[in-house]
Amino acid sequence: MKQAIIVFLSSTLKTLAGALIVGGLAYILGESFIIWSFAGFLGQFVVFYLYNSYLQYKAAKTIKENQLKELEILSRITFTINCAACKEPNQVVINANDENQFVCGVCNAKNAAYITAEAALVTTPIATKL
Ligand SMILES: [Zn+2]
Repeated sequence: MKQAIIVFLSSTLKTLAGALIVGGLAYILGESFIIWSFAGFLGQFVVFYLYNSYLQYKAAKTIKENQLKELEILSRITFTINCAACKEPNQVVINANDENQFVCGVCNAKNAAYITAEAALVTTPIATKL
């Protein structure tokens, strides 16, 4: 809480200083100090609102990109698949969202890996303790 108050006061003083600099420059150029100080004060809110909106957009985009990368990594599973030609086992990374092909490490045959789903009957144990 104390840190927040310090940040708020520091930020307010910087905003006021910025407004007074704008007013001072306008006064040197023969314009109204009060009006240009006020315009400088409001102008900083507009500029920092736009800047913060941009930062929020950028952060949201980065989060979404990271989530997509995580989903892509999670959709990959390594299986041991026997080659269709020589029947030797190969370690193959399978991506659930993609066509999966691999070259056999033993005979260099080009294989395609197909994902199939099987059903199994769910049973309940008759006794849990012996
Ligand atoms: Zn093979």
